[in-house]
Amino acid sequence: MSLDVHPISAFEDNYIWSIHNQQYCVVVDPGDATPVIEYCKDEQLTLVAILITHHHSDHTGGIDTLLQSYPDIPVYGPQNPKIQQITQRLKDGDHIELPHLKHNLSVMEVPGHTLDHITYYGEGSLFCGDTLFSAGCGRLFEGTPLQMFQSLAKFTALPRETKVFCTHEYTLANIKFAKAVEPDNQALVEYENWAVQQRINNLPTLPSTIEKEQNINPFLRCDMNTVITSVSKHKEALLTSEETVFASLRHWKDNF
Ligand code: ZN
Ligand code: FE
Repeated sequence: MSLDVHPISAFEDNYIWSIHNQQYCVVVDPGDATPVIEYCKDEQLTLVAILITHHHSDHTGGIDTLLQSYPDIPVYGPQNPKIQQITQRLKDGDHIELPHLKHNLSVMEVPGHTLDHITYYGEGSLFCGDTLFSAGCGRLFEGTPLQMFQSLAKFTALPRETKVFCTHEYTLANIKFAKAVEPDNQALVEYENWAVQQRINNLPTLPSTIEKEQNINPFLRCDMNTVITSVSKHKEALLTSEETVFASLRHWKDNF
């Protein structure tokens, strides 16, 4: 059974993903409570749980206000004690059953963007927070390039048709960089045309899929000659492994 998932827009470019049925919903990374409360009211849904991927405030800022309206719901999230509102602290390999939705998700620890970052995977869907974006990946605020590389490898080991629900609409900006890395990637050019049209129509470019990302996302293509050649032209670095290609690519993007 696949999940029913709906994007709730927040701030400039965040999506708070709602996993729902006709009656109940669970939200992932509610950085802001107001759009979630409006959505629940409009759709006549009862919020039954909150899932958190990492400690950044654009992912956690709405928890307190939501708990005022829904005082007893569980808040799932990382071990990090800094996120005080979490009631169910999760670690790699844990499974959770979403209350009232009859869905199960498994937990992966994916350090890189932050050290506490976790993701939720189940029923063909991946809620990856700020680890993977369409055509890009999260900045390394706390982790090392190697940690991020290994975290992304966990995603590419998932079935290719897995839907990828990222937290930010960064796709068009990421494509600009991806094209600088792989100007001749035809799949990327076609993807850009599609993504531009989506945004013109005020539609999300998400969810993506693992398969799509493997075709267009340079951060998942560090084993491709096109990416390796481009990175080595950009920067005199010793590219001895996929990880070092990834590290140089991430550094390039940080200064792009
Ligand atoms: Zn973040
Ligand atoms: Fe974020």
